Amino acid sequence: MPGWIELQRGDITMIAVDAIVNAANQALAGGGGVDGAIHRAAGPGMADELRSRYHGCPTGSAVLTGSGQLGDHGVRWVVHAVGPIWRGGHDGEEDLLRSAYKTSFLLAEDAGARSVAFPAISAGVYGYPLAGAAAVALRTVRDCLVRAESIERALFVLFSTDTLEAFERALRELTPRG
Ligand code: ADP
Repeated sequence: MPGWIELQRGDITMIAVDAIVNAANQALAGGGGVDGAIHRAAGPGMADELRSRYHGCPTGSAVLTGSGQLGDHGVRWVVHAVGPIWRGGHDGEEDLLRSAYKTSFLLAEDAGARSVAFPAISAGVYGYPLAGAAAVALRTVRDCLVRAESIERALFVLFSTDTLEAFERALRELTPRG
């Protein structure tokens, strides 16, 4: 049976799922927004693992680490995804955002996660317009869920009412696959 998508307003560091996805930057050095919140919640062990195992990450891709202190409420992995900076829409942003979600999903799937939570990648400081960011996110994750063997639940955790409403609209408009 294909898995399902849920939308929720909230703070992704408070969510008990197997894997949470971070909106990271190419340097994987920690930053503001959701990245800062996840690093604060996980503690320094996760940053140490990022530094020792990876040398940055290209836009449109992602890497996986353990979850540090987020493990206290059941999170096993953090997937650090690098979404595109919005430059007007003619710089491959849509493909890169799709690729960031797809790579993240597959890393969580390969690790054996059954549930995964995503933030609205690129829709904060990186400036990707909300309606487009929501449509790409939902379409990509829906298509991944159809093929998934391990992940059965994908949750979008949206930090503001505006973001939640944009995702709710995009979910209603999501066309059936095929
Ligand atoms: P990016 O640089 O990819 O745009 P940001 O962290 O600036 O990443 O923003 C991505 C989204 O994450 C925005 O919608 C922002 O409001 C949201 N966000 C910020 N903090 C959190 C949090 N603790 N939980 C979930 N979403 C968050």
